[in-house]
Amino acid sequence: MSLSLADIHAAREMIAGTAIQTPLVPSPYMSGVCGHDFLLKLESTQPIGAFKLRGAANAVLQLPPETPGVTCCSTGNHGRGVAYAARKRGMKAVICMSSLVPQTKIDGIKALGADVRITGKSQDDALAESQRLAAEEGYVEISPFDDPHVIAGQGTIGLEVMEEQPDLEAILVPLSGGGLAAGIAVAAKAIRPDIRVIGISMDRGAAMDASIKAGKPVEIDEVASLADSLGGGIGMENRLSFPLCKALLDEVVLVSEAEIYSAMQALYYEDRIVAEGASVVGLAAVLSGKFKPSGAVATIVTGRNVDMKIFTDIVCGRDIDLDGMKVEGRTWQPA
Ligand SMILES: *Cc1c(COP(=O)(O)O)cnc(C)c1O
Repeated sequence: MSLSLADIHAAREMIAGTAIQTPLVPSPYMSGVCGHDFLLKLESTQPIGAFKLRGAANAVLQLPPETPGVTCCSTGNHGRGVAYAARKRGMKAVICMSSLVPQTKIDGIKALGADVRITGKSQDDALAESQRLAAEEGYVEISPFDDPHVIAGQGTIGLEVMEEQPDLEAILVPLSGGGLAAGIAVAAKAIRPDIRVIGISMDRGAAMDASIKAGKPVEIDEVASLADSLGGGIGMENRLSFPLCKALLDEVVLVSEAEIYSAMQALYYEDRIVAEGASVVGLAAVLSGKFKPSGAVATIVTGRNVDMKIFTDIVCGRDIDLDGMKVEGRTWQPA
């Protein structure tokens, strides 16, 4: 199984009218910090507040109308995308999530008319429940990242970025299960083979990074993170997103919770953008000096579905304690 630029063009046609073409805007502050143009692809402006609508819509819109329903496991945003696309088609959706998912994401999914099932403490537990529904009740299960239609949908971001800004040196992509990074890398490298695609994860529980290093999917302990959307494993049976990320990512950079905290402040205070932790890891990689651009770069601001208590604590410089994961508060200081 593989994926081509043609699949991504087909996905763009399919999802037009469901997902929007998002703005690509300069960040004057980040451009000043790194001395090169630094662009933000604002997937936070999608109708569900995150890019996941692209892949979910491409998968759901392919299904025959007599499909009894759709199901998925999700850290929140994929479930929201599947729920949104299913509602648009008048299909039933059951979203399976672990107890690590923030309440704001659960509420968002319920508001779209989907059923929510909370099972266990990990993505793997949620996946098992969604596979059970598929096997026993005939629901179609849609993987958040290991599905060719989902990856092609996320890849449409790569098309939009390359059409607007063909001379980028690198694209900095938040990385979890790798559907986003794989889709963007397939699109961007088909258009410009020498562009670099850099995956960025948090340094606690970065499953794709550990798997690429091991040469095969490995299990990781799932821990609380400000970048909750980047948590979870890549699936021990991963067929597509792992081989694509392994082949196409030029580098993976890991950032700390303190670096994510500061990057959320940077994006809010300097660009006035509200975003969740997973969205700012591209900024964190540059602000921490772990990635040094040598030309124009773009990063994907993947979503805005942040718990507002945590967000306002960070904006106000307060300490964070997430299930025992602590980050010391600090007031924002521009570089
Ligand atoms: C899902 C998600 C990611 C990571 O995407 P993958 O395809 O799993 O690598 C990043 N940011 C947000 C906000 C997400 O919802």
